[in-house]
Amino acid sequence: MLGVDLHTHSNISDGTLSPEQLVHAAHEKGIHTLALTDHDTMDGLALAAQIANGYDMKLISGVEISSQWSRPATKKSYSVHIVALNMQHPEPLLAVLQQQKQIRAERAEQICRLLTPLIGQDIYADILSKVDGEADRITRTHIAKTLVEKGIVSRVQQAFDKYIKEGKKAYVKFDGLGLEETIQAIHASGGFAVLAHPTRYDLSATNVRYLIELFAQSGGDAVELPPQIDPPATRQMVDRMIAEQGLKVSVGSDFHGENMPWIQLGRVPVMKAGQVGIWEQFQ
Ligand code: AMP
Ligand code: MN
Ligand code: MN
Ligand code: MN
Repeated sequence: MLGVDLHTHSNISDGTLSPEQLVHAAHEKGIHTLALTDHDTMDGLALAAQIANGYDMKLISGVEISSQWSRPATKKSYSVHIVALNMQHPEPLLAVLQQQKQIRAERAEQICRLLTPLIGQDIYADILSKVDGEADRITRTHIAKTLVEKGIVSRVQQAFDKYIKEGKKAYVKFDGLGLEETIQAIHASGGFAVLAHPTRYDLSATNVRYLIELFAQSGGDAVELPPQIDPPATRQMVDRMIAEQGLKVSVGSDFHGENMPWIQLGRVPVMKAGQVGIWEQFQ
């Protein structure tokens, strides 16, 4: 076990453990370098740091930013998640996260407006109760869980498949920062930009390669290694792109607690010989 996990969520966004519980759990798993990377918010970091200080653990400041990119030839823009790590002076990033939070809050209302006629009821108030009334923390996971609790679908995955994933009637794109702006804001804060889960965007292999190249050209620092469940050919393709583009690697579980019980904290892919971990650059 590597003892490094640089992609995790708390209940500040769509995980189920509090930031404090997450750090305790990471300590029990033998993790010595942990990043908390909630969606578009760094609000859990102070609470997590308090606990990490009591252990011999490095808590890395982090956030998973909802970003977007496009191919010049087509008008279509694609969602992408950029994990920001190890910010030394987070003010520039915090300023753009304020806008991202606003977009997140408004998007949740838009999704609900689309859902209401489809399901015959307005579930916005129930969703809001899941995030302590803070609308800028609402993720589609909260919306999906509420649809399950209301008996409208039987499982979270079904809520995505039937209503809120791309292409479905209540899908609303996260119209957030562009890829380059995201990377610039991270660097302005003294952090590192990581392309999250490159094989989880429903993209063709050609588009995955294009995205990794674009990310490198835009100044990105590292690519997350695909999870072990991916086919070996997929992993090889990502390894090859990382080498070609001269990128570092990052490792993270994308732990979400009981919201994704199959993902274990600290269980991360194994690095290939020659790959360099981005955490080796952390001060
Ligand atoms: P949001 O940032 O509000 O779009 O929510 C994104 C989160 O929803 C992701 O981090 C996942 O945890 C979850 N998610 C996204 N797509 C799916 C899907 N197709 N099935 C299940 N969960 C998903
Ligand atoms: Mn999530
Ligand atoms: Mn993600
Ligand atoms: Mn994530």
